[in-house]
Amino acid sequence: MITVADALKNIDEHTGLGHKISKSLTEAYAHVLAENVLAPMNMPPFRQSSMDGYALRWSDSTTYNVAGEVQAGIAKNSALKNGDAVRIFTGARVPDDADTVLIQEHTTRESNVLHVNKMPAMGANVRPVGEQVQLGDLVLEEGTFLNEAAIGFLAGLGFEEVSVYAPPKVGILVTGNELQQPGKPLEEGQIYESNAITLQMALKRAGINQVTVKRVGDNLQETVVALEKLLENSALVLISGGISVGDYDFAQEALRKNGVQEVFYKVNQKPGKPLWFGIKGEKQVFALPGNPGSCLTCFYIYVWPMLRKHRGMKNYQNDEKTATLRTPVKNPFGKVLFLKATVSNGEARALGGQASSMLKSFAVCNALLLVPAESEEINPGEKIHYIPLDQLQ
Ligand code: AMP
Ligand code: MG
Repeated sequence: MITVADALKNIDEHTGLGHKISKSLTEAYAHVLAENVLAPMNMPPFRQSSMDGYALRWSDSTTYNVAGEVQAGIAKNSALKNGDAVRIFTGARVPDDADTVLIQEHTTRESNVLHVNKMPAMGANVRPVGEQVQLGDLVLEEGTFLNEAAIGFLAGLGFEEVSVYAPPKVGILVTGNELQQPGKPLEEGQIYESNAITLQMALKRAGINQVTVKRVGDNLQETVVALEKLLENSALVLISGGISVGDYDFAQEALRKNGVQEVFYKVNQKPGKPLWFGIKGEKQVFALPGNPGSCLTCFYIYVWPMLRKHRGMKNYQNDEKTATLRTPVKNPFGKVLFLKATVSNGEARALGGQASSMLKSFAVCNALLLVPAESEEINPGEKIHYIPLDQLQ
Protein backbone atom coordinates (compact mmCIF):
# COMPACT_ATOMS: atom_id res chain seq x y z
CA MET A 1 0.00 0.00 0.00
CA ILE A 2 1.38 3.43 -0.88
CA THR A 3 0.51 6.96 0.23
CA VAL A 4 -1.71 9.31 -1.75
CA ALA A 5 1.31 11.53 -2.44
CA ASP A 6 3.34 8.60 -3.78
CA ALA A 7 0.43 7.42 -5.91
CA LEU A 8 0.16 10.87 -7.48
CA LYS A 9 3.92 10.99 -8.01
CA ASN A 10 3.97 7.57 -9.66
CA ILE A 11 1.14 8.48 -12.01
CA ASP A 12 2.82 11.78 -12.84
CA GLU A 13 6.07 10.00 -13.73
CA HIS A 14 4.21 7.75 -16.14
CA THR A 15 2.24 10.50 -17.86
CA GLY A 16 3.49 12.19 -21.00
CA LEU A 17 2.04 14.74 -23.37
CA GLY A 18 -0.47 13.75 -26.01
CA HIS A 19 0.66 13.97 -29.63
CA LYS A 20 0.30 17.21 -31.54
CA ILE A 21 -2.59 17.44 -33.93
CA SER A 22 -3.87 20.18 -36.20
CA LYS A 23 -7.52 21.04 -35.64
CA SER A 24 -9.96 23.57 -37.03
CA LEU A 25 -10.72 26.35 -34.57
CA THR A 26 -14.12 24.88 -33.76
CA GLU A 27 -12.58 21.51 -32.99
CA ALA A 28 -9.66 23.08 -31.13
CA TYR A 29 -12.03 24.61 -28.58
CA ALA A 30 -11.23 23.46 -25.02
CA HIS A 31 -7.95 21.94 -26.14
CA VAL A 32 -4.46 23.16 -25.25
CA LEU A 33 -2.17 24.87 -27.76
CA ALA A 34 0.76 22.70 -28.78
CA GLU A 35 2.68 25.52 -30.48
CA ASN A 36 3.63 29.13 -29.88
CA VAL A 37 1.44 31.30 -32.06
CA LEU A 38 3.09 34.26 -33.78
CA ALA A 39 0.91 37.00 -35.21
CA PRO A 40 0.72 36.63 -39.00
CA MET A 41 -0.39 40.27 -39.32
CA ASN A 42 -0.72 43.58 -37.51
CA MET A 43 -3.91 44.10 -35.60
CA PRO A 44 -5.48 46.38 -36.49
CA PRO A 45 -3.99 46.06 -39.95
CA PHE A 46 -4.76 49.70 -40.83
CA ARG A 47 -5.37 52.88 -38.83
CA GLN A 48 -8.90 52.44 -37.54
CA SER A 49 -11.40 54.89 -36.18
CA SER A 50 -12.61 53.79 -32.75
CA MET A 51 -15.65 56.10 -32.86
CA ASP A 52 -18.34 57.50 -35.11
CA GLY A 53 -17.42 61.10 -35.91
CA TYR A 54 -15.12 63.11 -38.17
CA ALA A 55 -11.55 62.37 -39.22
CA LEU A 56 -9.45 65.50 -39.60
CA ARG A 57 -6.05 67.00 -39.19
CA TRP A 58 -5.83 68.41 -35.65
CA SER A 59 -5.76 72.25 -35.46
CA ASP A 60 -7.02 75.20 -33.41
CA SER A 61 -9.76 75.84 -35.91
CA THR A 62 -13.36 75.57 -34.74
CA THR A 63 -14.84 74.84 -38.16
CA TYR A 64 -14.03 72.31 -40.85
CA ASN A 65 -15.42 71.57 -44.28
CA VAL A 66 -17.02 68.12 -44.55
CA ALA A 67 -15.46 66.74 -47.72
CA GLY A 68 -16.73 63.17 -47.80
CA GLU A 69 -17.40 60.03 -45.87
CA VAL A 70 -15.61 56.76 -45.06
CA GLN A 71 -17.59 53.70 -44.06
CA ALA A 72 -16.18 50.65 -42.36
CA GLY A 73 -14.83 48.24 -44.94
CA ILE A 74 -13.97 50.88 -47.55
CA ALA A 75 -10.43 50.41 -48.80
CA LYS A 76 -9.92 53.72 -50.58
CA ASN A 77 -7.86 56.48 -48.98
CA SER A 78 -9.62 59.86 -49.00
CA ALA A 79 -7.25 62.77 -49.59
CA LEU A 80 -7.93 65.76 -47.29
CA LYS A 81 -7.19 69.34 -48.16
CA ASN A 82 -6.31 71.79 -45.42
CA GLY A 83 -9.41 72.44 -43.30
CA ASP A 84 -11.21 69.33 -44.55
CA ALA A 85 -12.83 66.69 -42.39
CA VAL A 86 -14.50 63.47 -43.47
CA ARG A 87 -17.45 61.79 -41.84
CA ILE A 88 -16.17 58.49 -40.46
CA PHE A 89 -17.61 55.47 -38.68
CA THR A 90 -16.31 53.01 -36.10
CA GLY A 91 -13.88 50.53 -37.62
CA ALA A 92 -13.37 52.54 -40.81
CA ARG A 93 -9.98 53.31 -42.29
CA VAL A 94 -8.72 56.72 -41.14
CA PRO A 95 -7.50 58.72 -44.17
CA ASP A 96 -3.71 59.07 -44.33
CA ASP A 97 -3.97 62.86 -44.12
CA ALA A 98 -5.98 62.74 -40.86
CA ASP A 99 -4.49 62.33 -37.40
CA THR A 100 -7.52 62.67 -35.12
CA VAL A 101 -11.14 61.58 -34.95
CA LEU A 102 -13.55 64.03 -33.40
CA ILE A 103 -16.54 62.24 -31.91
CA GLN A 104 -19.87 63.13 -33.38
CA GLU A 105 -21.33 64.14 -29.97
CA HIS A 106 -18.81 67.01 -29.81
CA THR A 107 -19.82 68.58 -33.10
CA THR A 108 -22.65 70.51 -34.69
CA ARG A 109 -23.22 70.18 -38.37
CA GLU A 110 -24.77 72.75 -40.74
CA SER A 111 -24.80 71.30 -44.21
CA ASN A 112 -21.10 70.85 -45.08
CA VAL A 113 -19.86 73.03 -42.27
CA LEU A 114 -18.67 71.20 -39.18
CA HIS A 115 -18.53 73.15 -35.90
CA VAL A 116 -16.08 71.76 -33.39
CA ASN A 117 -17.58 72.06 -29.91
CA LYS A 118 -14.79 70.23 -28.16
CA MET A 119 -11.50 69.27 -29.82
CA PRO A 120 -9.87 66.16 -28.31
CA ALA A 121 -6.11 65.67 -27.97
CA MET A 122 -4.24 65.07 -31.20
CA GLY A 123 -4.42 61.39 -32.19
CA ALA A 124 -7.62 60.73 -30.23
CA ASN A 125 -9.89 57.93 -31.37
CA VAL A 126 -7.46 56.61 -33.93
CA ARG A 127 -6.25 53.05 -33.33
CA PRO A 128 -2.71 52.83 -34.67
CA VAL A 129 -1.61 49.95 -36.89
CA GLY A 130 -0.57 47.03 -34.69
CA GLU A 131 -1.98 48.65 -31.54
CA GLN A 132 -3.14 45.27 -30.22
CA VAL A 133 -0.71 42.95 -31.93
CA GLN A 134 2.26 43.45 -34.22
CA LEU A 135 3.27 41.17 -37.04
CA GLY A 136 5.55 38.45 -35.63
CA ASP A 137 4.60 39.02 -31.97
CA LEU A 138 4.30 35.92 -29.78
CA VAL A 139 0.59 36.22 -29.09
CA LEU A 140 -0.35 32.88 -27.50
CA GLU A 141 2.08 30.48 -25.88
CA GLU A 142 2.18 26.73 -26.11
CA GLY A 143 0.16 25.46 -23.16
CA THR A 144 -2.63 28.03 -23.45
CA PHE A 145 -6.08 26.60 -22.84
CA LEU A 146 -8.25 27.56 -25.80
CA ASN A 147 -11.42 28.99 -24.37
CA GLU A 148 -13.93 30.91 -26.48
CA ALA A 149 -11.96 34.15 -26.15
CA ALA A 150 -8.72 32.55 -27.33
CA ILE A 151 -10.53 30.90 -30.24
CA GLY A 152 -12.10 34.24 -31.19
CA PHE A 153 -8.74 35.98 -30.91
CA LEU A 154 -7.16 33.43 -33.26
CA ALA A 155 -10.04 33.85 -35.72
CA GLY A 156 -9.46 37.62 -35.57
CA LEU A 157 -5.90 36.98 -36.71
CA GLY A 158 -7.19 34.97 -39.65
CA PHE A 159 -6.34 31.49 -38.38
CA GLU A 160 -8.49 28.57 -39.51
CA GLU A 161 -6.63 25.87 -37.65
CA VAL A 162 -4.06 25.46 -34.90
CA SER A 163 -1.91 22.72 -33.42
CA VAL A 164 -3.20 21.30 -30.14
CA TYR A 165 -2.43 18.32 -27.93
CA ALA A 166 -4.69 15.41 -28.81
CA PRO A 167 -6.68 14.17 -25.83
CA PRO A 168 -6.26 10.45 -25.22
CA LYS A 169 -8.72 7.92 -26.58
CA VAL A 170 -10.22 6.23 -23.58
CA GLY A 171 -11.60 2.75 -23.08
CA ILE A 172 -13.86 1.88 -20.15
CA LEU A 173 -14.22 -1.72 -19.05
CA VAL A 174 -17.09 -2.36 -16.68
CA THR A 175 -17.03 -5.62 -14.75
CA GLY A 176 -19.71 -7.24 -12.61
CA ASN A 177 -22.26 -10.07 -12.89
CA GLU A 178 -24.74 -8.13 -10.80
CA LEU A 179 -24.97 -5.15 -13.13
CA GLN A 180 -28.03 -4.36 -15.23
CA GLN A 181 -28.47 -1.53 -17.73
CA PRO A 182 -30.97 1.22 -16.85
CA GLY A 183 -34.17 0.69 -18.81
CA LYS A 184 -34.23 -3.05 -18.20
CA PRO A 185 -36.07 -4.60 -15.24
CA LEU A 186 -33.92 -5.45 -12.24
CA GLU A 187 -33.88 -9.03 -11.16
CA GLU A 188 -33.33 -10.02 -7.55
CA GLY A 189 -29.69 -9.44 -6.66
CA GLN A 190 -29.04 -7.03 -9.51
CA ILE A 191 -28.29 -3.31 -9.37
CA TYR A 192 -28.19 -0.75 -12.12
CA GLU A 193 -24.80 -0.10 -13.65
CA SER A 194 -23.79 3.52 -13.15
CA ASN A 195 -20.00 3.75 -13.29
CA ALA A 196 -19.68 3.76 -17.07
CA ILE A 197 -21.94 6.75 -17.53
CA THR A 198 -20.43 8.56 -14.53
CA LEU A 199 -16.94 8.14 -15.99
CA GLN A 200 -18.10 9.07 -19.49
CA MET A 201 -19.64 12.30 -18.22
CA ALA A 202 -16.57 13.11 -16.13
CA LEU A 203 -14.43 12.48 -19.22
CA LYS A 204 -16.70 14.70 -21.24
CA ARG A 205 -16.16 17.53 -18.76
CA ALA A 206 -12.42 16.84 -18.98
CA GLY A 207 -12.64 17.43 -22.75
CA ILE A 208 -12.62 13.79 -23.84
CA ASN A 209 -15.32 12.51 -26.12
CA GLN A 210 -13.69 9.52 -27.79
CA VAL A 211 -14.67 6.81 -25.35
CA THR A 212 -15.36 3.12 -25.95
CA VAL A 213 -17.28 1.20 -23.30
CA LYS A 214 -17.25 -2.57 -22.89
CA ARG A 215 -19.12 -4.55 -20.28
CA VAL A 216 -18.20 -7.99 -19.05
CA GLY A 217 -19.37 -10.40 -16.38
CA ASP A 218 -17.08 -11.65 -13.64
CA ASN A 219 -15.31 -14.04 -15.92
CA LEU A 220 -11.58 -14.16 -16.55
CA GLN A 221 -11.67 -15.01 -20.23
CA GLU A 222 -14.24 -12.33 -21.09
CA THR A 223 -12.26 -9.77 -19.12
CA VAL A 224 -8.98 -10.69 -20.82
CA VAL A 225 -10.48 -10.40 -24.30
CA ALA A 226 -12.34 -7.15 -23.67
CA LEU A 227 -9.26 -5.57 -22.10
CA GLU A 228 -7.12 -6.64 -25.05
CA LYS A 229 -9.53 -4.91 -27.47
CA LEU A 230 -9.61 -1.73 -25.41
CA LEU A 231 -5.84 -1.63 -25.09
CA GLU A 232 -5.52 -1.88 -28.85
CA ASN A 233 -7.53 1.26 -29.46
CA SER A 234 -7.05 3.44 -26.38
CA ALA A 235 -4.23 5.36 -24.77
CA LEU A 236 -5.99 5.11 -21.43
CA VAL A 237 -8.14 2.31 -20.06
CA LEU A 238 -10.33 2.65 -16.99
CA ILE A 239 -11.54 -0.58 -15.47
CA SER A 240 -14.48 -0.44 -13.08
CA GLY A 241 -14.66 -3.12 -10.40
CA GLY A 242 -13.13 -6.55 -10.07
CA ILE A 243 -9.89 -5.22 -8.62
CA SER A 244 -10.40 -6.36 -5.03
CA VAL A 245 -9.42 -9.71 -3.61
CA GLY A 246 -12.74 -11.56 -3.97
CA ASP A 247 -12.89 -14.93 -5.74
CA TYR A 248 -14.67 -13.26 -8.65
CA ASP A 249 -12.35 -10.30 -9.09
CA PHE A 250 -10.49 -10.91 -12.32
CA ALA A 251 -9.13 -7.49 -13.26
CA GLN A 252 -5.61 -8.08 -11.93
CA GLU A 253 -5.20 -11.39 -13.67
CA ALA A 254 -6.59 -10.00 -16.92
CA LEU A 255 -4.15 -7.10 -16.69
CA ARG A 256 -1.25 -9.48 -16.14
CA LYS A 257 -2.32 -11.67 -19.04
CA ASN A 258 -2.43 -8.56 -21.25
CA GLY A 259 1.09 -7.55 -20.29
CA VAL A 260 0.05 -4.47 -18.34
CA GLN A 261 2.74 -3.80 -15.78
CA GLU A 262 1.67 -2.87 -12.26
CA VAL A 263 2.99 0.46 -10.98
CA PHE A 264 1.06 0.35 -7.71
CA TYR A 265 -1.87 -1.38 -6.08
CA LYS A 266 -3.71 -0.04 -3.04
CA VAL A 267 -3.47 3.46 -1.67
CA ASN A 268 -3.77 4.48 1.98
CA GLN A 269 -7.04 6.32 1.48
CA LYS A 270 -10.75 6.09 2.09
CA PRO A 271 -12.66 5.64 -0.09
CA GLY A 272 -10.83 3.97 -2.96
CA LYS A 273 -8.17 1.86 -1.25
CA PRO A 274 -8.02 -0.91 -3.91
CA LEU A 275 -6.96 1.47 -6.70
CA TRP A 276 -4.58 -0.16 -9.20
CA PHE A 277 -2.44 1.68 -11.73
CA GLY A 278 -0.27 0.21 -14.43
CA ILE A 279 1.27 0.82 -17.84
CA LYS A 280 1.82 -0.97 -21.10
CA GLY A 281 4.32 1.00 -23.15
CA GLU A 282 2.84 4.50 -23.36
CA LYS A 283 -0.62 3.28 -22.44
CA GLN A 284 -2.02 3.68 -18.97
CA VAL A 285 -4.55 1.63 -17.07
CA PHE A 286 -6.41 2.57 -13.92
CA ALA A 287 -8.41 -0.20 -12.30
CA LEU A 288 -10.91 1.75 -10.23
CA PRO A 289 -12.83 0.18 -7.37
CA GLY A 290 -16.39 -0.69 -8.37
CA ASN A 291 -18.16 1.11 -5.56
CA PRO A 292 -19.56 4.19 -7.28
CA GLY A 293 -18.29 6.64 -4.64
CA SER A 294 -14.79 5.17 -4.73
CA CYS A 295 -14.73 5.02 -8.48
CA LEU A 296 -15.55 8.69 -8.91
CA THR A 297 -13.27 9.80 -6.07
CA CYS A 298 -10.33 8.00 -7.70
CA PHE A 299 -11.22 9.62 -11.00
CA TYR A 300 -11.18 13.12 -9.51
CA ILE A 301 -8.03 12.61 -7.46
CA TYR A 302 -5.89 10.62 -9.89
CA VAL A 303 -7.29 10.37 -13.40
CA TRP A 304 -8.30 13.98 -13.95
CA PRO A 305 -4.89 15.57 -13.19
CA MET A 306 -3.24 12.97 -15.40
CA LEU A 307 -5.64 13.86 -18.23
CA ARG A 308 -4.85 17.55 -17.80
CA LYS A 309 -1.13 16.80 -18.06
CA HIS A 310 -1.64 14.60 -21.12
CA ARG A 311 -3.72 17.35 -22.71
CA GLY A 312 -0.90 19.87 -22.24
CA MET A 313 -2.11 21.95 -19.30
CA LYS A 314 0.69 23.50 -17.24
CA ASN A 315 -1.10 23.59 -13.87
CA TYR A 316 -2.44 20.10 -14.05
CA GLN A 317 -2.45 19.09 -10.40
CA ASN A 318 -5.71 19.45 -8.52
CA ASP A 319 -6.14 22.89 -7.10
CA GLU A 320 -6.13 22.65 -3.30
CA LYS A 321 -7.99 25.36 -1.46
CA THR A 322 -8.56 26.08 2.20
CA ALA A 323 -11.82 26.65 4.05
CA THR A 324 -12.97 26.82 7.64
CA LEU A 325 -14.56 23.58 8.76
CA ARG A 326 -18.08 23.91 10.21
CA THR A 327 -18.83 20.23 10.92
CA PRO A 328 -16.53 18.03 13.01
CA VAL A 329 -14.51 15.40 11.15
CA LYS A 330 -13.18 12.23 12.76
CA ASN A 331 -10.50 10.03 11.23
CA PRO A 332 -9.73 6.93 13.30
CA PHE A 333 -8.56 5.08 10.16
CA GLY A 334 -5.00 6.35 9.77
CA LYS A 335 -5.84 6.97 6.09
CA VAL A 336 -6.33 10.05 3.97
CA LEU A 337 -10.06 10.72 3.80
CA PHE A 338 -11.78 12.30 0.84
CA LEU A 339 -15.08 13.62 2.17
CA LYS A 340 -17.96 14.84 0.06
CA ALA A 341 -18.76 18.35 1.26
CA THR A 342 -20.27 21.67 0.40
CA VAL A 343 -18.08 24.73 0.52
CA SER A 344 -19.52 28.19 0.29
CA ASN A 345 -18.22 31.56 1.47
CA GLY A 346 -15.08 29.87 2.75
CA GLU A 347 -17.01 27.49 5.03
CA ALA A 348 -16.88 23.72 4.55
CA ARG A 349 -19.52 21.25 5.68
CA ALA A 350 -19.02 17.51 5.32
CA LEU A 351 -22.16 15.76 4.14
CA GLY A 352 -23.82 12.66 5.58
CA GLY A 353 -23.68 9.41 3.60
CA GLN A 354 -19.96 9.09 2.95
CA ALA A 355 -20.00 5.33 2.33
CA SER A 356 -18.18 4.30 -0.82
CA SER A 357 -21.29 2.66 -2.22
CA MET A 358 -23.19 5.95 -2.14
CA LEU A 359 -23.45 8.58 -4.85
CA LYS A 360 -26.25 10.60 -3.25
CA SER A 361 -23.89 12.88 -1.32
CA PHE A 362 -21.62 13.11 -4.37
CA ALA A 363 -24.56 14.29 -6.45
CA VAL A 364 -25.00 17.41 -4.30
CA CYS A 365 -21.48 18.17 -3.07
CA ASN A 366 -19.19 20.75 -4.66
CA ALA A 367 -15.94 19.78 -2.95
CA LEU A 368 -13.88 16.92 -1.60
CA LEU A 369 -12.38 17.66 1.79
CA LEU A 370 -8.85 16.33 2.22
CA VAL A 371 -8.29 14.90 5.67
CA PRO A 372 -4.65 13.93 6.28
CA ALA A 373 -3.98 10.35 7.42
CA GLU A 374 -2.42 11.61 10.65
CA SER A 375 -5.31 13.94 11.63
CA GLU A 376 -7.53 12.00 14.02
CA GLU A 377 -9.99 14.82 14.27
CA ILE A 378 -10.55 18.25 12.89
CA ASN A 379 -12.86 20.51 14.83
CA PRO A 380 -15.26 23.20 13.68
CA GLY A 381 -13.40 26.48 13.27
CA GLU A 382 -10.20 24.78 12.11
CA LYS A 383 -8.86 25.10 8.58
CA ILE A 384 -9.24 22.25 6.15
CA HIS A 385 -7.97 21.67 2.61
CA TYR A 386 -10.36 20.79 -0.16
CA ILE A 387 -10.55 20.27 -3.89
CA PRO A 388 -13.34 22.25 -5.52
CA LEU A 389 -15.28 20.07 -7.94
CA ASP A 390 -17.48 22.61 -9.66
CA GLN A 391 -14.77 24.41 -11.62
CA LEU A 392 -12.77 21.46 -12.88
CA GLN A 393 -11.71 21.43 -16.51
P1 AMP B 1 -16.19 -4.54 -6.99
O1 AMP B 1 -15.14 -3.48 -6.99
O2 AMP B 1 -16.35 -5.20 -8.31
O3 AMP B 1 -15.93 -5.51 -5.88
O4 AMP B 1 -17.56 -3.84 -6.66
C1 AMP B 1 -17.74 -3.19 -5.42
C2 AMP B 1 -19.17 -2.76 -5.26
O5 AMP B 1 -19.51 -1.82 -6.25
C3 AMP B 1 -20.18 -3.87 -5.41
O6 AMP B 1 -21.22 -3.67 -4.47
C4 AMP B 1 -20.69 -3.72 -6.81
O7 AMP B 1 -21.99 -4.21 -6.97
C5 AMP B 1 -20.64 -2.22 -6.99
N1 AMP B 1 -20.40 -1.90 -8.40
C6 AMP B 1 -19.41 -2.42 -9.14
N2 AMP B 1 -19.44 -1.92 -10.38
C7 AMP B 1 -20.50 -1.10 -10.43
C8 AMP B 1 -21.05 -0.28 -11.46
N3 AMP B 1 -20.51 -0.26 -12.68
N4 AMP B 1 -22.13 0.45 -11.19
C9 AMP B 1 -22.66 0.42 -9.94
N5 AMP B 1 -22.17 -0.29 -8.93
C10 AMP B 1 -21.10 -1.07 -9.15
MG1 MG C 1 -17.37 -6.82 -8.94
